[in-house]
Amino acid sequence: MHTKTLYELSKLLHEGDISSVELTQHYIDRIKTHNNQLNAYITVCEDNALKQARDADQKIQQKTAGKLTGIPIAHKDIFCTKGIRTSCASKMLDNFISPYNATVVEKVNTAGMVTLGKTNMDEFAMGSSNETSFYGPVKNPWDNTRVPGGSSGGSAAAVTANLAPVATGTDTGGSIRQPASLCNLTGLKPTYGRISRYGMIAFASSLDQAGPLARSAEDAALLLNEMAGFDSLDSTSVERDVPDYTTTLQDSIEGLKIGLPKEYFSEGLDPQVAATIEAAIKTYESLGATIKDITLPNTGLAVPTYYVVAPAECSSNLSRMDGVRFGHRCDDPKDLLDLYQRSRGEGFGEEVKRRIMTGTYALSSGYYDAYYLKAQQCRRLISNDFQQAFNDIDVIMGPTTPTTAFKLGDKTDDPISMYLADIYTISTNLAGLPGLSIPAGFVKGLPVGLQIIGNYFDEARLLNVAHSYQQATDWHKQSPPSFE
Ligand code: GLN
Repeated sequence: MHTKTLYELSKLLHEGDISSVELTQHYIDRIKTHNNQLNAYITVCEDNALKQARDADQKIQQKTAGKLTGIPIAHKDIFCTKGIRTSCASKMLDNFISPYNATVVEKVNTAGMVTLGKTNMDEFAMGSSNETSFYGPVKNPWDNTRVPGGSSGGSAAAVTANLAPVATGTDTGGSIRQPASLCNLTGLKPTYGRISRYGMIAFASSLDQAGPLARSAEDAALLLNEMAGFDSLDSTSVERDVPDYTTTLQDSIEGLKIGLPKEYFSEGLDPQVAATIEAAIKTYESLGATIKDITLPNTGLAVPTYYVVAPAECSSNLSRMDGVRFGHRCDDPKDLLDLYQRSRGEGFGEEVKRRIMTGTYALSSGYYDAYYLKAQQCRRLISNDFQQAFNDIDVIMGPTTPTTAFKLGDKTDDPISMYLADIYTISTNLAGLPGLSIPAGFVKGLPVGLQIIGNYFDEARLLNVAHSYQQATDWHKQSPPSFE
């Protein structure tokens, strides 16, 4: 049951072969058996899930159900969930019960989906390995000694190990695509503004975007249908119709023009990962696509630019965690300053503090022009590179990550090497473009992800291009044997 696609589950539910309560209980039981090993969930919402499942069963019986009604989902613990702890994997919010739902949660609830629980992540989504979580690291279901990627590592591990059929994630610099790549999933970061950020705890507001983590492009399309759309509560969400992303999945990709940026195949890329990606590109050629070598000359600026912009924005966003209104408060503060200092000192982990300090520095008067303003200018150059490229091609392809999943602890003492894990994903966030990662093969038993980047609001095309590959290959159908 837990290896079925969303369409298959939907059919079983609608034809009365299974109830949502049975399906939900099945997943809850699997979580109880396997979560200890993986640490994918921070909170499991058994009672609430079964209640939602009963409501879904009623809607199915009354024939008022939609496609995803009754299907369980896991939410990254960055999405506010009413009445349920929303921790962002931080000690700071360990005691925070959200009084409202994020728009994404509200939308999938309205679609009748059942929240199984809240998944582990890097603290405040800062990280690439899920090791900065206050609740401890998540293990990669393919190899328990390795990272699942981050920051949406709990969502990725949950779907990979079949502890949820599908999950939400967020991507500020790669946090949907990188764990999708390291865990063998299809993960989509949509265009900035496609999905509401309301109630998604902000890390870097100009980069953050929610998206689906799923086992196939088809599943991702079904979930994106429910997540996307304008929201008057988020002034950066875009007023633009949401197409039905499933209707174009089958379109032919004959004549598709694929650009391969030389910067994504250079030094630092593992040769076996490179070979796997090249094989995937050959498959696209056999499906009728044409290949063009391109250049994105400012790619080298992406990581340094990101590590000015993201910390600067996070230092401002996280200033609301002051021990006064919500979150952790220190014991017996002497005065207001002591309250701020100790509450924040105790509540935040090391990586979050590092970002707040660099960000505050970059924004301080006298340094603003040298850092933040400069970074914004670099950001424009990076966006221009993409627009230049899209004059001649339809999509860009390359590896999602330079290597397969690395060992737990391997990069924790070296922030710079951790930052470089996102070297191929960060540029799209800086440009606001959509990007997707799909399973493309294995190196020594570990998954490799192919990244596909599109122009603004080209999610339907990305999913179509991914689906075509998934009709021709079965990498995406492989799951780790111990979780089948
Ligand atoms: N790994 C990047 C960071 O640490 C991106 C994280 C993300 O996309 N949320 O900031």
